[in-house]
Amino acid sequence: MRAERAGKHISGAERLVTSDLLESVAIELVQRALQHPRGSASKIHIQVDCIKTSELASGRLPDLYNNQVVDWQHGRELAREILIAGGVSSVAVDAALQALASGPAPDGQSMRGAMLIDADSGARLEKDQTRGVRVSRMDLAPAARQQLLLALEKQGLNNPHVIEALTLAAKVIAAPTIIAELCWSDDPDYLAGYVASKHGGYQRISLLKPADEERGGRAFFVRSSKERLGALVRWLEGQPFLIERIGRIYAPRYWKGDV
Ligand code: AMP
Repeated sequence: MRAERAGKHISGAERLVTSDLLESVAIELVQRALQHPRGSASKIHIQVDCIKTSELASGRLPDLYNNQVVDWQHGRELAREILIAGGVSSVAVDAALQALASGPAPDGQSMRGAMLIDADSGARLEKDQTRGVRVSRMDLAPAARQQLLLALEKQGLNNPHVIEALTLAAKVIAAPTIIAELCWSDDPDYLAGYVASKHGGYQRISLLKPADEERGGRAFFVRSSKERLGALVRWLEGQPFLIERIGRIYAPRYWKGDV
């Protein structure tokens, strides 16, 4: 689902379901487009693609660590620390933080998709800096979704942002040439974000931006030859990816002990 208001993208969501669930999921997605905090949509696109089960890759969710910070400045400091520990260069981390803070699209607004950032040089690698790379065709299998809802509920984290972000991050970090992902939302009232990587898992950070900030986005840190970038983008955008196992959901931990 992709929703716009006066030509501007306001929300999007992906599901991967069996055909008997198509109607109920389509209704959920339309409701979601109409209830977005940025106001209701003036145009809603629903696209349905048929996918053969033989095309599906299966995956697992990363473990979720719930980091609490006092303010977004501490949040960005923590994100920086985690990314550097995960093997991203400080130049690349700073380039991503700077781009997300100032609006990563050429007009200083959010992009529709993600930036691809060279994990060493910090250079932007995506072809279109307005659209970026849109990760698509991923979802949780029904049993995994149920288990996840219960596990998140216990930690007070049962909200659509966390579920969708975990699902997207699981696919992103499954790509061999992606070192890590950094994300904070473009929803003005959703201030949490995360860093995800294969070894560090999904590190949720309670605050990564100030209230009412509409600029947000995603950075995928890549270590790849130019020749393999095309294959990476095709995989992220096109490979059906169904998550059948969830990870652990850890209790909150307080960064710098000052929350
Ligand atoms: P959200 O978490 O939905 O608020 O999205 C935050 C930002 O992540 C958006 O502004 C986009 O730049 C980016 N984004 C959203 N959905 C996707 C996606 N499917 N693939 C890649 N980037 C995305």
